[in-house]
Amino acid sequence: MAQKARLLIVEDEAAIRSGLVDVFVYHGYEVKTADNGDDGLRQSLSGKYDLILLDVMLPGVDGFEICNRIRQQDRQQPVIMLTAKSNDEDIVQGLTLGADDYVAKPFSVTQLVLRVQAVLRRSGIDEQSTREIQLSNGLVIDSQNLCAGDTVFTRREMDLLLYLAQQSDRPVAREELLARVWGYANHMEIETRTVDIHIAKLRRKIEADPANPQAIVTVRGAGYRLMLAGQ
Ligand code: CA
Repeated sequence: MAQKARLLIVEDEAAIRSGLVDVFVYHGYEVKTADNGDDGLRQSLSGKYDLILLDVMLPGVDGFEICNRIRQQDRQQPVIMLTAKSNDEDIVQGLTLGADDYVAKPFSVTQLVLRVQAVLRRSGIDEQSTREIQLSNGLVIDSQNLCAGDTVFTRREMDLLLYLAQQSDRPVAREELLARVWGYANHMEIETRTVDIHIAKLRRKIEADPANPQAIVTVRGAGYRLMLAGQ
């Protein structure tokens, strides 16, 4: 019997919090909660959780700051932000700070459970097959240690790079990236921006001139293509 996945829910609204606890306990998770930002921050940094569900607006430290502090300590800790519905700025900020995903309130419980499962599953991407990614611009990325020299990557950024590297003979559409890297079966329009935001972050990290990308090129109408050494 596999060990139960441990989930931390940081949410100050009691009704939402208890609803989430019921749902995830029902789905076999071991669930702990925090009802304010200070407790949420302390528990988030404990390293005891497989995934953290993080509300943005909290009494005390807010969800963005908690996410930021988690990433300073642990780039691999899975985090899903609970953002206000259609607040694009919240979504962009959460993803920029390194959240793995977001779910907009009011959310569908089914969708949230699927997102949590997808983040935990890591999309089945085979990391062992691609330890080093050698880019056309000379950069060598260490996929095991999530870095290239002093430049560090989040788990999600690396999953994206690994998938693009495995498909480097062709451009990959946003929809395919959402399905294969994020695990989204059906996506909403805003979610394609998730891909664009992550690509922009990656370009700032791996391109000499992010405005004129050579390593991750945009193929009009087709998607993104990663250019490996020798291509
Ligand atoms: Ca709140």
